[in-house]
Amino acid sequence: MNLLRCDDPAEAAAWCASERAAGRSLGFVPTMGALHEGHLELVRRAARENDVAAVSVFVNPLQFDDARDLAAYPRDLEGDALLLDGEGCGLLFTGTLASFFPEARTPAEIEAVDPGPGAVGLEGEFRRGHFGGVATIVRRLFELTRPHRAYFGAKDFQQTLVVEHVARQLDGGPAIVVCPTSREPDGLARSSRNRLLGESVRERAPLLFRALSAARSAWSAGERDAEALAEVLRATLRHPEVELEYAEIRDPARWEDGEPRGSLTRARALVAARVGGVRLIDNLSLDAGEGGA
Ligand code: AMP
Repeated sequence: MNLLRCDDPAEAAAWCASERAAGRSLGFVPTMGALHEGHLELVRRAARENDVAAVSVFVNPLQFDDARDLAAYPRDLEGDALLLDGEGCGLLFTGTLASFFPEARTPAEIEAVDPGPGAVGLEGEFRRGHFGGVATIVRRLFELTRPHRAYFGAKDFQQTLVVEHVARQLDGGPAIVVCPTSREPDGLARSSRNRLLGESVRERAPLLFRALSAARSAWSAGERDAEALAEVLRATLRHPEVELEYAEIRDPARWEDGEPRGSLTRARALVAARVGGVRLIDNLSLDAGEGGA
């Protein structure tokens, strides 16, 4: 095994510092573990584009607004280490909330980081405080590892806006590399949460991607009206086993404007739904090829 495992963030920071001091570029992939092929695509890219790659696994309590969701989140650190070994990853590190924020005596004392305008609406509305929690841990992870590049998935589109904001606020913050969403053959976006889907529910789960694809087909056929595109999404998602949270269109370059009206030149479709009680999210660029998804 070439992979160094470490459960002390201070030790991980020292490893990263020594790599940088030796003149090696560092690619960093923050995760919550229960790794799947989508995560591994980020890790391979980080290893390819940098001299060394580091991965963190931390199920961050600050970004969960629901204690049951946090408790049910899948964890498999031994499996994760096995997957990472052989992927060109040099460091796998973990930690506890207390070890990431030793200056705080209680979680309430952790200084919250502003997630910026990307946190407004959709996930930010349905998961109150979620992006504040993301920004707070991501900033700390960047401070510890000080990577040259940090890799995130387009699957969590709003999160990419938030981490770009966090990186911009840091002196010498990393370049954020957004990687395309990795999908199962039937289109379902790979997610750690897919492990929680029962067999019959799993059959319904690709409905999210079907809805996004229907909106993209409408776009390709010339539909540009924001409300008409949103209705294509919603019509596909009307199903007794799908509990829709949102199905919306956004102009990705004008996120702060919220729900657009009228004709668009750029569009991203975003959906969130509970399928068999499991919360799934997905999104797709309507105006770019899947490579830009
Ligand atoms: P998570 O462990 O869910 O916090 O995800 C860690 C990183 O992997 C985030 O940047 C996610 O956006 C990314 N990721 C998760 N699933 C996928 C996927 N299916 N395709 C691409 N990136 C993904």
